[in-house]
Amino acid sequence: MRTAEVVIIGGGIVGSSIAYHLTAAGCNDVLVMERESAQGKGSTGKSMGGVRAQFSTPVNIQMSLYSIPFYARFDDGLGYPCDYRAQGYLFCATSEQHMAYLKRNHETQVGLGLKDVRLLSADDIRNMFPQLRADDIVGGSFCSSDGFVDPYSAMNGFMSWACDHGAELWKNCVVTGIEYDSTGVVSVRSSRGAVATRIVVNCAGAWAASVAKMVNVELPVEPLRRMLVPTEPFDGFPHSAPMIIDMSNGFHFRPHLWKKS
Ligand SMILES: Cc1cc2nc3c(=O)[nH]c(=O)nc-3n(C[C@H](O)[C@H](O)[C@H](O)COP(=O)(O)OP(=O)(O)OC[C@H]3O[C@@H](n4cnc5c(N)ncnc54)[C@H](O)[C@@H]3O)c2cc1C
Repeated sequence: MRTAEVVIIGGGIVGSSIAYHLTAAGCNDVLVMERESAQGKGSTGKSMGGVRAQFSTPVNIQMSLYSIPFYARFDDGLGYPCDYRAQGYLFCATSEQHMAYLKRNHETQVGLGLKDVRLLSADDIRNMFPQLRADDIVGGSFCSSDGFVDPYSAMNGFMSWACDHGAELWKNCVVTGIEYDSTGVVSVRSSRGAVATRIVVNCAGAWAASVAKMVNVELPVEPLRRMLVPTEPFDGFPHSAPMIIDMSNGFHFRPHLWKKS
């Protein structure tokens, strides 16, 4: 039977990043099993690729304090592009309650070492982004190192680097079961045969709960459908624009905030 030190289930951005980090840390026997014929057919291929450190909880802020500088060095460090663009995230508050929330977050973010974030007045926002319809905005928060990566490229870069350094990716490989005994995991069953391993990493994204069930674990992961509305490029909307979050609209991007020119 084929053996592997670590089997990763799922070859999206999470499985690819873990394959990279394990390989870079010296584990040279990583096998990634991906059920699709190509990577990126799960959530990763549909993502907007927004990256931000402007979160409210310390754990999210700390992860971004690691990952955003990592993405800034990605192309040089891995030799593959991830297309990190520091275009910023602008949170627009339309009530004093939202503004108080942004101020609390700002304090936590600065306390944890985030340097590029600042609170803005309504006039600051109007001056920075004159195209924005800002009549209902009372202030906001902007972080210049937030922005975008190309999720497909980042996923591909992580996995390519890992495979260049000894990891293996099996496509068209559906994981169908995990054998375990009182000492832990013994092997992974798949449509491409069984692989003996003591370590499995569940990176199956929206399908993670069904993989966890294979070892009798109830994982509280439920798929949540997200929406993206792509348009043709048009001149009224600069490509260098930050991600603009309208707090009056469930923290979602609100395109009609942009004034018609
Ligand atoms: C429209 C949209 C917009 C988004 N925008 C953003 C954003 O701006 N910023 C942000 O940070 N996040 C965003 N996200 C969320 C982000 O895309 C996901 O958090 C991320 O891609 C999850 O990666 P993943 O590797 O966990 O999952 P996936 O990319 O879904 O990968 C899981 C993989 O596991 C494989 N798999 C599942 N079961 C099995 C099995 N039994 N055997 C083998 N393989 C299996 C699947 O085929 C899949 O390839 C967005 C998501 C959507 C849908």
